[in-house]
Amino acid sequence: MYCVNCGVELKDSEKVCPLCKTMVFHPDIPRSVGEKPYPEYNPPVRRFNRFGALFVLTVIFLIPALITLLIDLKINAAVIWSGYVIGGLAVGYITFVLPLWFRRPNPVIFIPCAFASAILFLLYICLNTGGHWFLPLAFPIAGIAAILLTAVVALLRYLKRGKLYVFGGAFIALGGFSMLIEMFICITFKTRFVFWSVYPLAACVSVGLLLIAIAVCKPLRSSLDKRFFI
Ligand SMILES: [Zn+2]
Repeated sequence: MYCVNCGVELKDSEKVCPLCKTMVFHPDIPRSVGEKPYPEYNPPVRRFNRFGALFVLTVIFLIPALITLLIDLKINAAVIWSGYVIGGLAVGYITFVLPLWFRRPNPVIFIPCAFASAILFLLYICLNTGGHWFLPLAFPIAGIAAILLTAVVALLRYLKRGKLYVFGGAFIALGGFSMLIEMFICITFKTRFVFWSVYPLAACVSVGLLLIAIAVCKPLRSSLDKRFFI
């Protein structure tokens, strides 16, 4: 007797195919309980030690931080340049490794955390280099980017429907953001407003309006659904 689905040879006693789990059916053969023609296959359970891997990752981040700190202290007897390395590593760790410590990391919490660490790192660089670009440029741009990204991720996560509206709105907001970036650059470096941001603004607003139009217009959406399986 053979499986009707996958064609593997079956013992008459088999009730379901051991390979593809299809019900075994043969109208002429009465079922009798007997030994299976091959042993039961139990795939070995692989145990992945998550915390062990995270511990190794943490050490990988700590080693270069410690080495640079020690070299800096030995050469300069102060934290001169190792602060940048350690700060960069800390931002990378908070952004990529810290969420992995949680079983179900919530991006609505971890995205603002990552941006906050990056903003603090930028503040550190600005203060150490005697720059004056943190408050008028880096802080507002990073802050607005954090708010925009967190809002989009939160809406996508908690809204059941209307994802096209969210993406459309996000594109329009991104266009507005490009104008703000140009404004902050002009204020910080006292350059002239040349309206380069009009181009990304126009592109983003067109894409955003197109997405919203698709969301509003039901026939258009269903025809696109059929064509692109979205
Ligand atoms: Zn089968």
